[in-house]
Amino acid sequence: MKKVIIVTGASRGIGRAIAEELSRDNIVVANYNKSYDMAKSLSETSENIDIFKADVSNRMEVKSLVNYVLDKYGKVDVLVNNAGIAQEKLFQDITDDDWDNVIKSNLYSVFCTIQEVVPNMISNKSGCIINISSCYSVYGGPFAVAYSASKAGIDGITKSLAKELAPSHIRVNSIAPGAINTDMNAGLTSNDIEELNSEIPLGRLGEGADIARCVRWLVKDNYTTGQIISVDGGWTV
Ligand code: NAP
Repeated sequence: MKKVIIVTGASRGIGRAIAEELSRDNIVVANYNKSYDMAKSLSETSENIDIFKADVSNRMEVKSLVNYVLDKYGKVDVLVNNAGIAQEKLFQDITDDDWDNVIKSNLYSVFCTIQEVVPNMISNKSGCIINISSCYSVYGGPFAVAYSASKAGIDGITKSLAKELAPSHIRVNSIAPGAINTDMNAGLTSNDIEELNSEIPLGRLGEGADIARCVRWLVKDNYTTGQIISVDGGWTV
């Protein structure tokens, strides 16, 4: 039977690759915020993809996303919290607004979406939550204090909630990507990419599909919970 899966931030990049991968044999509600044209083109790739606009940093919009899915499909089997923004700033230059923007987009959004889907998962006594974190959570990143803090917060949610929700057979895991070839890294020069390739044991940046395959594995698994899984070509080893 097809699972019903919500993927946040699925219009572009890693989220889009996850939606494409999972829609091969599941129903995917692909959330987007600003990139309607991209979301529309994604929905045209599979009859299993349904798109829904919501800013996941806004509680009311998250509620409308989850209510839409429950009204139309009756359940949520899997939630993939992928939406996120990057911020590159010298620590001393980070303003309160900068901080709030990153924490709301990357961390509060995860808190909200999980809170909205969990009652349904608990009543089904089944669920799988996958949070897209970052190697910066584990390793830290220069000029990325707010971003690294938001991702470390996500991993805290993952570990704590995995224990709390295990009795309801709900698994919670993080995937921590390394450097992935998406718009988020559009600012890298060819020299930067060459340098990165030489630092990554597998010799290349990742693609969205590399992360999507790990998501697929976690969806099928039933005994992994509370883990932060690095998918980074060995970069952080
Ligand atoms: P991306 O190419 O910049 O795409 C970001 C996606 O998130 C877009 O689909 C965007 O949707 C969505 N989004 C952002 N804010 C949103 C909001 N408030 N509500 C709903 N959707 C929102 O980024 P990416 O590289 O695919 O990154 C995806 C995730 O992986 C992020 O959480 C990121 O932190 C993480 N990650 C990325 C890398 C990397 O190297 N790329 C490494 C580690 C972790 P719209 O365009 O429709 O607004």
